[in-house]
Order: sequence, then structure tokens, then C-alpha cells
Amino acid sequence: MILILFGPPGAGKGTQAQRIEKAHGLVQLSTGDMLRAAVSAGTEMGKLAKSKMDAGALVSDDIVIGIINDRIQEDDCKDGFILDGFPRTVAQAEALDEMLTQQTLKLDAVIEIKVDDAALVERIAGRYTCANCNEGYHDTNLKPKVEGVCDNCGSTEFKRRPDDNAETVAKRLKEYYAQTAPVLPYYADKGVLRSVDGMQAIDDVSAQIASILAV
Ligand code: ADP
Ligand code: ADP
Ligand code: ZN
Repeated sequence: MILILFGPPGAGKGTQAQRIEKAHGLVQLSTGDMLRAAVSAGTEMGKLAKSKMDAGALVSDDIVIGIINDRIQEDDCKDGFILDGFPRTVAQAEALDEMLTQQTLKLDAVIEIKVDDAALVERIAGRYTCANCNEGYHDTNLKPKVEGVCDNCGSTEFKRRPDDNAETVAKRLKEYYAQTAPVLPYYADKGVLRSVDGMQAIDDVSAQIASILAV
């Protein structure tokens, strides 16, 4: 199965992708995570991406298309994958179509997670992840079962993203509406777009997604 989780920053794409990954054995491919890994590793690509990410702007289509093209040909993707944060422009959506056609793969569904702007800002402000395994948490909405200990791996170290600050979030939301939202009609026209109410609790959003995937 090949899925796209679509939505603005903070909508819950990563949270839901981690759950689908565990439940369905599909790998989560987050371009944001891949770019952050390139930034940490100090690669040429990471250097190019860093200034854009710090400013809340999109990284160039060429870079992210290249990353995804390489990644989906790896062995662990052969039974399917979940794209989280890609495509983010119509050019990226078109490039993805070409890649999938070339590998005789088919996109099963694009699931849009709809969330109000005020909730997005609150979700991003409280977001943090495990520094070891990347499991996602929130200061009030999703705390580890034992305070300060990752449910998934037991690590006691957590991190916050440098771009999760109020100023950058405003810029990222603007970019979403200007460049990414126009991808929605592209998939609606293909008949693969489904929407879920992302204002619900995390488990309820998961249940709605599960019912779409079960069809
Ligand atoms: P995205 O990947 O779309 O940017 P995340 O999955 O990282 O979003 O979620 C952003 C923050 O909001 C995280 O801290 C997460 O725990 C929290 N969150 C995700 N889904 C919900 C939800 N349905 N209700 C409340 N908080 C949520
Ligand atoms: P969020 O889900 O909170 O928006 P991501 O981790 O998906 O955050 O993305 C973080 C940053 O990485 C984006 O603001 C952008 O600079 C860059 N990025 C991630 N995916 C893409 C993409 N498909 N195209 C361009 N830039 C991207
Ligand atoms: Zn962990």
C-alpha cells in the first residue's frame, strides 16, 4: 500500500504515520526527518536545506524529489510506504506520479488531515520527540506514560525542533496555504483524496484513517 498523509504543519501527519507504520508494517518516509538528518550530518544537501528550514520556507523541489526517488527504491519500501510531508508542491506531486509509473507502483490514497490554524499553533508549540527513536509527544496532548521516559524505547532524552517557534510557524503556515494546499485539487481530480477531521483526539483520528484503509 502506498499512502500520502497530507496536511499543514502540526496537523498530526507524523503521529498518525508512526501508528500506521506499527499497525500495517509500512515504512514512514518523512522528508522533514530526512532533511533534518542531512542537516545534522552536515552534508552538502543539509547545508542547502538548513537556511530554508530555519526560515520556515520550503526546500527546493529538486532536493526533496531526489531524496524520495532514492529512498523508495530501497528494500524496506517494497511492501509499501507512507509519505509524510511529501509532496508539498504541485511539481513534487507530478514528479511522484512519474516515479511511481516508472516503478509500476500505484498510489492507494491521499489522506488529508484537517485542523484549524489555532490548534496547529498550539500543537507545534507543545511538540517534542524522543532523541533516540523519534517517537512524537506533546506537553499536554500526548505525554509519555511515565514522565520523562520514552514509551517506545525507554530513553530519557527528548528534543524540540528549532523551527517550532511562533515566528517560523507563521511562515510555514503561509507556505502551506500558498504552495501546498494547491496540491489538494490535483489529487481530488484523480479520485484518491480522502479527508479526516484532525480536530478529534489522536485515537479518533487513527480510527477514521483505519476505516478508510479498510475499504
Ligand atoms: P505533523 O507531522 O503534521 O507536523 P505531528 O504529528 O508532529 O504533526 O503533531 C504535532 C503535535 O501535535 C505533536 O506534539 C503531537 O503529539 C500532537 N498531536 C497530533 N495529533 C493530535 C491530535 N489529534 N490532537 C491533539 N494533539 C495532537
Ligand atoms: P511539519 O510537518 O511540521 O511542517 P516537516 O518536518 O514535514 O514539518 O518539515 C520541516 C521543514 O522541512 C519544512 O518547513 C521545509 O523547510 C522542509 N521540508 C520538508 N518536506 C519538504 C518538502 N516535501 N518540500 C520542501 N520542503 C520540505
Ligand atoms: Zn524513544
